[in-house]
Amino acid sequence: MASRQPLIAGNWKMNLNHLEAIALVQRIAFSLPEKYYAKVEVAVLPPFVDIRSIQTLVDGDKLLLKYGAQDVSPHDSGAYTGDVSGPMLAKLGCSYVTVGHSERREYHHEDDAVVNAKVKTALKHGVTPIFCLGEKVDVREAGGHVAFCTDQLVAGLAGLTAEQVRNVVVAYEPVWAIGTGKVASSADAQEVCAALRAKLAELYGEDTAAVVRVLYGGSVKSGSIGELIAQKDVDGALVGGASLDADEFTKLCALA
Ligand code: PEP
Repeated sequence: MASRQPLIAGNWKMNLNHLEAIALVQRIAFSLPEKYYAKVEVAVLPPFVDIRSIQTLVDGDKLLLKYGAQDVSPHDSGAYTGDVSGPMLAKLGCSYVTVGHSERREYHHEDDAVVNAKVKTALKHGVTPIFCLGEKVDVREAGGHVAFCTDQLVAGLAGLTAEQVRNVVVAYEPVWAIGTGKVASSADAQEVCAALRAKLAELYGEDTAAVVRVLYGGSVKSGSIGELIAQKDVDGALVGGASLDADEFTKLCALA
């Protein structure tokens, strides 16, 4: 049975000023002892404008904390005003980039084809995509959440080889749980994460499914991480609001 190192990734969204961003990284680094990282991988996903400074901190102090971005253009370069490319993220040492977050799908009208292109771009440039998917409340209430999520999985990974899929992190983020304080029950999270892994096994083989990390995201806090991560198919969390508070985030990491 393959072992999967848990990942806790903090999605800062469009929050904090530059000084606050630097201070938060320093406090996380100060609070988590080096030996902690042997157990759990921790990443922060700040706004683009903070990445360079975080790179300097991480490199300068040889921190084991990883960092990444919240979005990537599907294009490598060109006339795409305001966008940031895969090569730019790679040059800044980003380990991760979120792709397909529900806020991008909702406010920037990103469909499965765009998400798929972004997953491919990230992989091409050696930045691990954290591929987000999840149902809205009406889909869940109608009982269609598992099929909806597995369909999003299939569409987002279309055209990838099993070898490429091994380098993707999948994040199940039910839209009704994001930023609402309504965390999914551990049974609900496990149900979908297990279904996603079963679909990966069907499409790419058991060996691949066994190594892909599947995270849960949606109102995770230090009080809920323990039960969530104890689930067989939940390999960590994508954390929004709780990742902005150094004490809460490091407590959450320590309990993962
Ligand atoms: C997110 O934005 O990915 C997220 C999970 O947010 P929150 O933890 O605030 O629900």
